Amino acid sequence: MATLPAVDLRDRPEDQAFRDEVRCFLHEHLIGEFAELGGRGGSGDETFGFEVRRRWERELAESGWTCLGWPVEYGGRGASMTKQVIFNEEYARSAAPGRVSILGEGLLGPTLIHYGTPAQKARFLPPIREGTELWCQGYSEPDAGSDLANVKTRAVRDGGEWVVTGQKIWTSLAHQSDWCFVVCRTDPESARHKGLSYLLVPMNQPGVEVRPIMQLTRTSEFNEVYFDGARTSADNVVGDVGDGWRVALATLAFERGVALLGHQLSFRRELDRLLAVAKGNGRAVDPVVRQAMAQAHIELTIMRYNTLRSLSGVDGPVSPPEASIAKLYWGSWHRRLGELSMRILGPSATVLDGEASADNGGYALNDFQRSFLFARSETIYGGSNQIQRNIIGERVLGLPPEPKGTVPA
Ligand SMILES: Cc1cc2nc3c(=O)[nH]c(=O)nc-3n(C[C@H](O)[C@H](O)[C@H](O)COP(=O)(O)OP(=O)(O)OC[C@H]3O[C@@H](n4cnc5c(N)ncnc54)[C@H](O)[C@@H]3O)c2cc1C
Repeated sequence: MATLPAVDLRDRPEDQAFRDEVRCFLHEHLIGEFAELGGRGGSGDETFGFEVRRRWERELAESGWTCLGWPVEYGGRGASMTKQVIFNEEYARSAAPGRVSILGEGLLGPTLIHYGTPAQKARFLPPIREGTELWCQGYSEPDAGSDLANVKTRAVRDGGEWVVTGQKIWTSLAHQSDWCFVVCRTDPESARHKGLSYLLVPMNQPGVEVRPIMQLTRTSEFNEVYFDGARTSADNVVGDVGDGWRVALATLAFERGVALLGHQLSFRRELDRLLAVAKGNGRAVDPVVRQAMAQAHIELTIMRYNTLRSLSGVDGPVSPPEASIAKLYWGSWHRRLGELSMRILGPSATVLDGEASADNGGYALNDFQRSFLFARSETIYGGSNQIQRNIIGERVLGLPPEPKGTVPA
């Protein structure tokens, strides 16, 4: 039986120095309106305090705390995975606001660094790093979600421009974004993953209509996006024309890496808060609740060690089987935690006692309720649980490929 190499999870002196630097920055800058957000604005809460969080992004950028993992030549710090983990840990620990530029920093930026032309890098990377241009991801369509190769949005060359027509859906933060990276069909005769291209399309133009979709949380983080003759410069293709599938997959690999880093400590904070509620309302003496809380703690600890192990020695995207295991694990864990929190809150879980605002239309969910509802989506986006199980089945267990066209009911 193969043994896994031992991983020393303690900070080395240089890691501790970096951790101190991050803490010091956050201590000095996370004040005033930024501190007042109380760490809100994360996953499922992205419409909260948006303008303040935009200013916070610039505050981070001014001191060089955005895009840490990018190479120094593109304005990053060339930070190792360990340092990025440390930054994320301290960021979550200090209850800093949810970031507004995750898609630009975590997805498009690394994709451009690998596949972009020098002109594209010069044009698009600085405003991402400075937090002045926000991006959204135009992949999914009504008939192309898990089956992304079924994309039908098309782009046609017209002189020095591409003209884009089609519909995207579930486009997170499209209503707040300046640009969208769009997977579309540039060869009308093509099928499946051939003949696709990866275009950068400006959102603020007449040919783009964004229609927000109301979610379970009664906020609208994601949208339908209609392209009806939207235009972008012919130069704004990443990779070769017709080679968009390869570029799109590269972006997805970065998405998995980002997700691995992002969630752990906010989960820990949520579990700690839930523990405090259970102790306060007497539920902590219920043997079933106690077991469930212990189990949640054990699984979260395993999640952390597993993440650190899979990231150690990695200096790019995490490999697909590892990433699938992690995605399946954290998505399912968080959904179960939401169910446990409703159980611990008991009948009060049905009372809206959160903060009413224009943003949530007066539907004043508290943090636990919001997280419980939003967690339903975490087993869907970034590759659904079923898709992750297929990948694990085929690539880890070596099962024969799933027969096509037989999606189980
Ligand atoms: C909160 C949220 C944010 C999102 N943000 C974005 C975004 O910013 N940009 C973007 O492009 N997309 C985004 N998405 C879309 C997301 O990527 C898709 O929802 C996801 O890929 C699933 O696609 P679908 O919704 O079309 O479901 P489908 O692919 O139609 O799947 C329906 C069901 O069938 C199952 N299924 C499908 N194929 C198989 C198979 N081969 N084997 C077994 N089961 C299968 C699925 O698991 C699912 O249960 C977001 C989604 C959510 C929920």
